[in-house]
Amino acid sequence: MKRNNSLLSGIRRLLTVVSCVLIACCLFSCKQKVEKPKTAIVAHRGYWNCEAAGYARNSIAALRQAGEAHFEGSEFDVNMTADSVLLVWHDSYIDGKSIEKNPYSEFADVRLANGEPIPVLDSFLLAAVDYPATQLVFELKPHSTPEVEDAAVSLSLKALERYGLLDPSRVMFISFSLHACEQLAQLAPGFTVQYLSADVRPSLLKQKGISGVDSHLNVFLNDSTWLEEAESLDMSTNVWTVNEDSLMQVFFEMGIQQLTTDRPDAAREVLSKLNNN
Ligand code: MG
Repeated sequence: MKRNNSLLSGIRRLLTVVSCVLIACCLFSCKQKVEKPKTAIVAHRGYWNCEAAGYARNSIAALRQAGEAHFEGSEFDVNMTADSVLLVWHDSYIDGKSIEKNPYSEFADVRLANGEPIPVLDSFLLAAVDYPATQLVFELKPHSTPEVEDAAVSLSLKALERYGLLDPSRVMFISFSLHACEQLAQLAPGFTVQYLSADVRPSLLKQKGISGVDSHLNVFLNDSTWLEEAESLDMSTNVWTVNEDSLMQVFFEMGIQQLTTDRPDAAREVLSKLNNN
């Protein structure tokens, strides 16, 4: 009888220890789940860095590849010609000619690396309609005066509306022009607007109604308060342009909300490895 009691007491102790271990494992696993990075990957100038897009930045093919690959975001750049045509092109010049000072006809015959014409915004947005899971990251380039920028903002919003894309889940805005950001924030309330330069602190941007920062990677790396300040104000955070695997991991672990990269496929792999560890 005494021997049976002692056996029962041993079994109870063993069960208690096993229960504690199971609870601890469960808590640890839940904690791990919470800490897994959830960064959205933004294809910089589309997913141009692949054969299917013909390695053509800012092409419709690059936008389509980003959509086909289900990247969360696809970034592109917009400049306005002298006759108010919005062109998807990074620089303010094409073949030495100022976009803003020349009519569209001067650029109509220029071809991208994959043979496409330089996309006009309308053609670009028409293609974007096919990829509802990929948010457009619309970069409006700085123009020479606030008045020209106001016109570019107004035409951009009208174009998005024409294609049913004037929706905060479908498009967000970025710009190096503080004026353009302020205008977008004012005319498109509820949309994410991120400022690309680091000459204005997140807190001041927030006061101006701008809801996010999209900063060069060194801004975050050299000033840890930059991300903290933006996060404490509930602002959206994006980093450009992160192309090295090791740096991608740093930003994923930092908890950045969006990571803009020329290698979205590699970023997806790095993120996946982190999440499976
Ligand atoms: Mg850009």
